[in-house]
Amino acid sequence: MDAKAASRAGATASAISRGRSEAASATWPEAGSACRRGAPAVLPFGALEQHGPHLPLSTDTIMAAWLSEKVADAVDGWLLPAMPLGNTSANDGFPGTVSLSFDTVRAIATDVGRSLARSGFPCLIIVNGDWGNRAALGQASRDLAVGGWPVLVVDYPGLAEVASAVCETPAAGAGFYHADEVETSVVLALHPELVHMERAVASYPLMPATLGSTPTDLARLSPSGVFGDPRTAAATKGRAILDALADRAIGLARSFLSDVAAMGDGDPTAVPPPAP
Ligand SMILES: [Zn+2]
Repeated sequence: MDAKAASRAGATASAISRGRSEAASATWPEAGSACRRGAPAVLPFGALEQHGPHLPLSTDTIMAAWLSEKVADAVDGWLLPAMPLGNTSANDGFPGTVSLSFDTVRAIATDVGRSLARSGFPCLIIVNGDWGNRAALGQASRDLAVGGWPVLVVDYPGLAEVASAVCETPAAGAGFYHADEVETSVVLALHPELVHMERAVASYPLMPATLGSTPTDLARLSPSGVFGDPRTAAATKGRAILDALADRAIGLARSFLSDVAAMGDGDPTAVPPPAP
């Protein structure tokens, strides 16, 4: 929420009124203060899935968590702990992948939203880290919107544009970035200690025309789990990608919040107080 919107919502001075507030380390009175100042809740939604022999299973969660921090900082948000699991059944052929069903992801996002609404938070921004979650999170946002509670799903806005500007190697498929130069560069920028570059291999499988239209076993397409060429990855590229994603995501979040404020849904007096 920008300064003007916060003022319109009747925000008062608070010990946690600048930058993000982290739910995991906050107390319930601090949560109540965040509600009263109209803080938008921010939920990183990740996955635990294979990312080749060189990247951690939590790659998508790492990316979503970082992006969520940037969004929450920019909008004085209430940052929730990252969801470490998602819908990633296409990667079930690889050990370590843990996949939730569409219904489970939808139910988690909807339940989180309903709890936050009951507490008095005005809206929710979900930062999605994995394409497998898209459909379920989209449905959850519609479920909550029908109940009059606005939700924004941020899904790596502008990624294709920045990836083609920054990376030396092409994507394995249109809009398909997995354990490649893009994701490897991003993890090198955020957690280099988790990247095993000596194990990085390139893989450009023949992508079936039906990809995305029918259940696909990615292990059959790429036994290594890599789609693209991670060998040219670099932390500097990852930082450029992350900065561009954060700019777009923050712009999207601000547009959403001004719409929420204009609708009057951001008025904290319109929601019930948190339970004692
Ligand atoms: Zn990923």
